[in-house]
Amino acid sequence: MDLQALLDDLAVEAAPLAAQGKVADYIPALASVPATRFGLALATMEGGLFGTGDWRTPFSIQSVSKAFSLALVLARDGEALWQRVGREPSGNPFNSLVQLEYEKGIPRNPFINAGALVLIDRLLTLTGDSLGTLRDFLRAESGNAAVEVDPEVAVSEASHGHRNAALAHFMASCGNLENPVDQVLDHYFRQCSLAMSCADLAKAGLFLANHGLRADGSRLLSRSESKRINSIMLTCGTYDAAGDFAYRVGLPGKSGVGGGILAVLPERGVLCVWSPALDPHGNSIAGVEALDRFTTRTGWSVF
Ligand code: GLN
Repeated sequence: MDLQALLDDLAVEAAPLAAQGKVADYIPALASVPATRFGLALATMEGGLFGTGDWRTPFSIQSVSKAFSLALVLARDGEALWQRVGREPSGNPFNSLVQLEYEKGIPRNPFINAGALVLIDRLLTLTGDSLGTLRDFLRAESGNAAVEVDPEVAVSEASHGHRNAALAHFMASCGNLENPVDQVLDHYFRQCSLAMSCADLAKAGLFLANHGLRADGSRLLSRSESKRINSIMLTCGTYDAAGDFAYRVGLPGKSGVGGGILAVLPERGVLCVWSPALDPHGNSIAGVEALDRFTTRTGWSVF
């Protein structure tokens, strides 16, 4: 199969759908990113790297980061995490306050904002520096030592982060945070503000396609833990559109409001697509379309 030609075709076919979406503006620094940007990269298990469009341009990874946080916590802490966070699809928006109160401060899954705050809290306790641990990991796996927080986005997130602060304070009131709220939020905002390209992210995610083995051959996760992360990506990685994403794409995926989506092709590789215009659930509209067309064309879904 001519993978390069396929990616080029998908860019032509999917990128125009961005016109039907809207760039996130509740974090003002994200609103200035042109909706016409489109990148798509495929990193393969054999070390191949293909890409098209803006696939080398760094963008705000936002909640794509949460797949990596989950891996880093499970690698260190195993099953203990599940005392503090569930693993069911939320069926509600990723920043829902009402669901968290109803469920007594236990987030429905690790990929909604409240769940990611618990991941960061745990990684802070385990390592003393959640952001630094994640950033080092992403640098090592992507092979890009320049992976860094975009300070403008981080400031923008923090100054418009009232909803995330509300989630964190509510969890603290329920006894579900171990560290001071401000510290957890600071690491969360900076983590979401990490800037990486499609090429960086696709390479960084390869351990998820490789049963938990890192780029240097060392083991981060057991085979079973890697399976579990992929399963949670499939069922929860695109929030209250996870059912539709599974139906259309048939792959574990993790989206972010910067317009990125990471999708795992077990034992084959990792795709990363970026197009900033979002659907009402916060997922890249052209990104989902490109992934849908990719698995339809190749047959490389998990089903
Ligand atoms: N930083 C964003 C927020 O907290 C992340 C949300 C997302 O990417 N879905 O709202």
